[in-house]
Amino acid sequence: MEMNELLKMGKEISLLGKFLTLASWDQETETPEGGQEGLGEMIEYLSGLYYAKMTDPVLKAGLEDLNQQELSVRDKAIVREMKKDLDRMAKIPQNEYLAYQAILSRSQNIWAKAKRENNFDLFKGTLKEIVSYEKKFAGYTRTDEACLYDVVLNQYEKGFTTEKLNEFFGLLKSEIVPMLKRIQESGIDYKKPYEGKVDADVQEKYNKKLAEYIGFDLSRGVIKRSEHPFTTNLNRNDVRFTNHYYEDKLESALFSTIHEGGHGMYERGVSKDLEYTAVAGGASMGVHESQSRFYENLIGRSKSFWVPIFSDLNQSYGLTMDLDEFMNYINRAEASLIRTEADELTYPLHIMIRYEIEQMLFNDEIIVDDLPKVWNEKVKDFLGIEVPSDAQGVLQDVHWSGGSFGYFPSYAIGSAIASQIMFAMNKELDVEGLLLKGDLKPIGQYLDKHIHQYGAIYTTDELLNKMMGESFNPKYYVDYLKDKYTKLYHLN
Ligand SMILES: [Zn+2]
Repeated sequence: MEMNELLKMGKEISLLGKFLTLASWDQETETPEGGQEGLGEMIEYLSGLYYAKMTDPVLKAGLEDLNQQELSVRDKAIVREMKKDLDRMAKIPQNEYLAYQAILSRSQNIWAKAKRENNFDLFKGTLKEIVSYEKKFAGYTRTDEACLYDVVLNQYEKGFTTEKLNEFFGLLKSEIVPMLKRIQESGIDYKKPYEGKVDADVQEKYNKKLAEYIGFDLSRGVIKRSEHPFTTNLNRNDVRFTNHYYEDKLESALFSTIHEGGHGMYERGVSKDLEYTAVAGGASMGVHESQSRFYENLIGRSKSFWVPIFSDLNQSYGLTMDLDEFMNYINRAEASLIRTEADELTYPLHIMIRYEIEQMLFNDEIIVDDLPKVWNEKVKDFLGIEVPSDAQGVLQDVHWSGGSFGYFPSYAIGSAIASQIMFAMNKELDVEGLLLKGDLKPIGQYLDKHIHQYGAIYTTDELLNKMMGESFNPKYYVDYLKDKYTKLYHLN
């Protein structure tokens, strides 16, 4: 097969995939409750076409053929990624794949209802089916992975096995838990710097401006509302994300904007000649999260970022906050229940809870019925607090309802990569000076140049090595957290 022919077939698969993306975007943002079933049927039908295209024997033979040929770096990566997806798909029987997609098209709503009504039993049956399919598929697609959980981990972050993650999380735990204890003992409690509520429409207007300020171009993007913020894209000129506006918690939407904007700018920055290929997305979920968390935490939680825009924030929201009080508040560390609202220091502990639970599920140490109990025990163990309800506990995250097991570690990996990127960027740019000037363009350009443009051509370690001559190294992250919280809580 000629490469051109493969690109043509790949584009058809990609276009079909984008229809599926559009359907799920609509499901989350527009579809009324009564329309969910009809949309589910559309998704199921499209998934069938998608499966058929992906398992086309002509495509399989073509990939085998091209795999033996001398190809450019880009084409080699496209063949590698397509082959990986196809090999995986081919091992899953079509009827099981479609039955699973049908469950997934309904499960998000079932989960949302269970969370709304604080009733785990409403979701339990569906979750059992999802876990059982995920485990079955992991069994089918397993190659040389040491355990079943490594198979699902590999889907999001190749090479980050339980062995490697145990080491990473072990290091974080040993640094963070004692520091959190010292913070709690310090008696310092940074208070909320504002009172009252800010109307959701007012917040929405300001957050759109904030998105543009960090570099998210609204002429090539859309921002809507949903229960949970997320980012998706149809192509590099149509990147979309959602936000959720809590009227008495305005920082929530601000940091969601900066976080999702970071994801969005990654998608927007992928080189045009990768469009519609298997390498058009991010290098891995960890690298994707590194972009969002880079903007959210390293940029968005720094004082220099807020200096030029703080009076406008106050004015837009009709507030008179003090910048230093705002800074202390948005950076404070305290054990809390909700992952997405957690501070930078305790955030990885939330990830470890999910990581350990998922491992136990995949290793048959627990079953779905045990989840609420195990969850509450882990929260007590890691964060030292009681979980008052399943809605604020085991039901809080959307991921499992979408079959995303093995995804959570990407958030922690991403945070660590973000610190590593900042270290490298500071060698080339005066990041603080740029922020103080309100000039974020060079920061975006640096990320475009070193990360975004390559899409998924390179692995995480290859990207980092190209950028700074070093593989993944959590030391930068640990140093950053230690330095930041020692200063913030006067721990010296
Ligand atoms: Zn994210």
